[in-house]
Amino acid sequence: MAASMKSHRIPITFQRWRWLWQRHSLRPLTSHSVNCDSDSVCYDVIVVGGGHAGTEAACASARLGSRTLLVTHKIETIGEMSCNPSFGGIGKGHLMTEVDALGGVCARICDISGIHYKVLNRSKGPAVWGVRAQIDRDLYKKNLQEDVMATENLTVVASPVEDLILGEPFNPQHNLTKQACIGVVLGNGASVYSKAVVLTTGTFLRGSINIGLTTWPAGRMDDKPSVGLAKSIENAGFTLGRLKTGTPPRLDAKTVDFSKTGVMKPDDPPRPFSFINDNVWIPADKQLNCHMTQTNPEVDQIVLETMDKNRHVREEINGPRYCPSLESKVLRFKGRSHQVWLEPEGINNELVYPSGLGITMPEEDQIRVIRSIQGLERADIVKPGYGVEYDYIDPRQLSRTLETLRIQNLFFAGQINGTTGYEEAAAQGILAGINAALKVQKKPSLTVDRTEGYIGVLVDDLTTLGTNEPYRMFTSRSEYRLSLRPDNADQRLTEKGYKAGCVDEFRYNRMLEMYRDLEENIYLCKYIKRISSDWNKRLGFPHQKKETSSSVWDLLKQGVPIQKLIETESEVLKHLQQNWRLAENLFNQAIYESVIVKQRLAMEEVRKDENLLIPEDLDYMSFKSIPKSSKHLLDQARPSTIAAASRIPGLSPADIVCLLRRVKETQKKTSSVPDG
Ligand code: FAD
Repeated sequence: MAASMKSHRIPITFQRWRWLWQRHSLRPLTSHSVNCDSDSVCYDVIVVGGGHAGTEAACASARLGSRTLLVTHKIETIGEMSCNPSFGGIGKGHLMTEVDALGGVCARICDISGIHYKVLNRSKGPAVWGVRAQIDRDLYKKNLQEDVMATENLTVVASPVEDLILGEPFNPQHNLTKQACIGVVLGNGASVYSKAVVLTTGTFLRGSINIGLTTWPAGRMDDKPSVGLAKSIENAGFTLGRLKTGTPPRLDAKTVDFSKTGVMKPDDPPRPFSFINDNVWIPADKQLNCHMTQTNPEVDQIVLETMDKNRHVREEINGPRYCPSLESKVLRFKGRSHQVWLEPEGINNELVYPSGLGITMPEEDQIRVIRSIQGLERADIVKPGYGVEYDYIDPRQLSRTLETLRIQNLFFAGQINGTTGYEEAAAQGILAGINAALKVQKKPSLTVDRTEGYIGVLVDDLTTLGTNEPYRMFTSRSEYRLSLRPDNADQRLTEKGYKAGCVDEFRYNRMLEMYRDLEENIYLCKYIKRISSDWNKRLGFPHQKKETSSSVWDLLKQGVPIQKLIETESEVLKHLQQNWRLAENLFNQAIYESVIVKQRLAMEEVRKDENLLIPEDLDYMSFKSIPKSSKHLLDQARPSTIAAASRIPGLSPADIVCLLRRVKETQKKTSSVPDG
């Protein structure tokens, strides 16, 4: 598939594209019922926006062989990280591995652009580890832009899109009562036609920036907002809402006194994001450190005293609860000190990103906040922090493929759907790009459900529950988090992607090989058996009276570190020494095996009774065997059925099973009470 594609064309600017258009006598079409199947000027898929959703969508659609056009404001901002120069983390890292498993771009690019790699949550089970990296901002853009430009079937044009063209669907088998999106109108008035359109315009729809009491229209700093397109979406009948987010000031690294801050070292060895990479481009000793400091009462004082000069801090528009501004943290957690991570923006970049200090007060007060923090007493601000407000569409207007329910062949992905974060955007982008291309090719769609991946959790949450605050992924949002691990994303999704056509032979074969090796090694581990006194002697474990026989697999299941077993059984297991990924998968498979079987049985039990009605007056707070946080979630949501309860983000399968049993018990008691 990918191997048979033609090789690359040169990057196309808008001027060059127009010139090509004229040279080949391609004329802008005027008819709104154009037949794309026979018309050479049509693209199969147009993707609007070259951010994290747009690049994944465009590359995925092109990988599927669809002639794809990516239209974005500026070539040089393709892949811009609007906020923090980092990718991954807990939940977000899981999404990245899934994007990668579908042949996506961002994980591969992070492996050649990162400058500080660290796995978060290592003290917890591997199911919730979060691979994260500080990324060199400029290098990421350069590498991503090269990748995008080298993608076959993909043309890139720099232009604003001002309007959508609606008309009859390209495929007469489609619903003729529903309008379809058949193209876009560019900033110069030219119409470009296509069979499907994916909108990934981020924070740009009627965006406005706030610093202090000053406000001006902008999609983000130095970028114009999308006003025409917002009107077009509104005129098409979509419900829009308004959200806000913000970013910290950037500091001059030369003016920060790092000797007064804590140091965070990267992992050695660094762990790659992408399944197709065994290493990252940079060794541990060449990576950069991050640093840590914290806020203090003086910071709180300045924040409180400047509140009346801070337009962005308004209650009526929701901002990110999980990545909040300093102002909202000061208001919410009075008197508490907050961590500030000082993150480098790149190897040849003198800027420091003070993560945790998103502020929107006037610039002269921002400098007061900064200079009252330890290590930053002499720090200079190079770019001020700011807030941005923007329109988003209610994602309940989308199907599970991210196609709109209202207009055929129109897809939305990324921050436009109410999410926040590069990874959430990339995950939606790849799904929308794949499905736009599949639809054009008249092939069955590709969906991911909650049991298959975090992408499924994200899309299900958005399309069924909607959101009224920027939505961010956490592992706690998934009921199936023990089985949706970063180490098995390829096992869960690559086959699906391969069948759809967005995963190449190389990745697919590598995945098959990996799981063949895994099977063989599980067999091997089950085969190597010793009596307990022998194991105890070899592993230095205390003596036990009872003599039993157990295998390497049994010990792994009990949590004995695989490294120890490899050393003990070096003759038969030494090949695992050279294959960290296989060793890790083997260990994870073993420790989660029995839990996953239990989880599956529990979910089957739930599925059988998912239509069971829950009594309205059920006292959730009296439940004994579920955590307090789950009781609160149930008490607040008061679901009407078991199915509705299982959709509440944050509840585990065990919580649902407990609820199900309680409801059944209550029913039994009620039915055994004699009448009268
Ligand atoms: P974007 O990356 O915004 O890309 C949108 C693209 O669409 C841009 O290339 C733009 O030029 C293009 N475009 C827009 N309109 C048009 C048009 N009409 N025609 C042609 N091209 C168009 N995320 C976090 O996780 N944590 C944070 O703390 C955080 N803070 C943020 C602070 C700010 C100020 C901003 C702007 C974003 C912040 N984000 C944060 C969000 C993060 O940047 C986004 O979630 C992510 O970039 C969204 O990706 P996207 O592809 O949906 O949109």
